[in-house]
Amino acid sequence: MYPAAFDYHRPGSVQEAISLLQENPEAKILAGGHSLLPAMKLRLAEPGAIVDLGSISDLKQLSLNGGATIGAMCTYDALLNSNELETMFPVLHEALAWVGDVQVRNLGTIGGSAAHADPAADIPAALVALEAEFVVVGPNGERTIPASEFFIDIFTTALEPEEVLTQIKLSAPDGNVVSAYEKFPHPASGYPVCGVAVVVTRDGSGNVSSARITATGSVYVVTRLTGAEDALTGTGGDASAVEAASERATEGVSEFAGDHYASSEYREHLTKVFVKRALNRALGN
Ligand SMILES: Cc1cc2nc3c(=O)[nH]c(=O)nc-3n(C[C@H](O)[C@H](O)[C@H](O)COP(=O)(O)OP(=O)(O)OC[C@H]3O[C@@H](n4cnc5c(N)ncnc54)[C@H](O)[C@@H]3O)c2cc1C
Repeated sequence: MYPAAFDYHRPGSVQEAISLLQENPEAKILAGGHSLLPAMKLRLAEPGAIVDLGSISDLKQLSLNGGATIGAMCTYDALLNSNELETMFPVLHEALAWVGDVQVRNLGTIGGSAAHADPAADIPAALVALEAEFVVVGPNGERTIPASEFFIDIFTTALEPEEVLTQIKLSAPDGNVVSAYEKFPHPASGYPVCGVAVVVTRDGSGNVSSARITATGSVYVVTRLTGAEDALTGTGGDASAVEAASERATEGVSEFAGDHYASSEYREHLTKVFVKRALNRALGN
């Protein structure tokens, strides 16, 4: 399939990209193209113009200084090659390693994954569990959006049409933090039928002082599993505490995704199973 005709622009700066977005209301940003181009070829998207961020080198920078500032155009592969990022944020490294195949990881970008907000994307689960901040620049300047407000709905984020996601910021882990990302991949596409990221902090006595647990794939937008978080917090994090957290994992989740491959009931069940797996691995049970 061929996409509909479009104009192509390759700006050299974020400001130039924003001007092009303002001049071309039908334009779409191009990052790695691994979600946008298939959608265009299927004519699910027919943007009149493409604004390719590939020449803006600032957006490809990864800076590690206690925390991490990750340029939106960093590819999965570039991030997987950073030992320091892996040491500091292993849950993100695990999620990155799960994405697609070598070709997808060579071109796909962390910013493209976040901005696309595919309900079955791996990376948002890790970013929300890490309480990432999203730096976006638009005609009215720069703003920072917390993870809790960035992902709004299926394929919908807090980004405005003329805004560019420029950076994703992660704070340095504070204290004794353990984490894991577990995924049940779709056998054909590799996308998560259910993915669960957990980031757990233990206090000096080994008790869980905070837990952030997220689901992707089984829900329509990456979701914090607050029932499981509440159940785990204050416990010793042993296998029985994890079992109790898993039982409460789906509490308060209004809707599970369902399709011809996996019903919503099955995905709800998987969510509990993968919460248990991720927590037990993270906590060493
Ligand atoms: C065969 C295949 C297998 C895959 N498997 C997986 C998988 O297992 N797990 C997974 O998570 N994903 C998977 N993906 C999707 C992949 O991760 C994509 O790379 C990702 O979803 C989009 O990133 P991109 O850089 O390619 O963005 P693009 O496709 O270029 O853009 C996606 C959307 O985001 C917008 N956008 C991009 N960058 C910005 C920005 N900086 N600011 C504002 N808007 C922006 C674009 O306008 C577009 O609407 C797969 C894709 C393919 C083709």
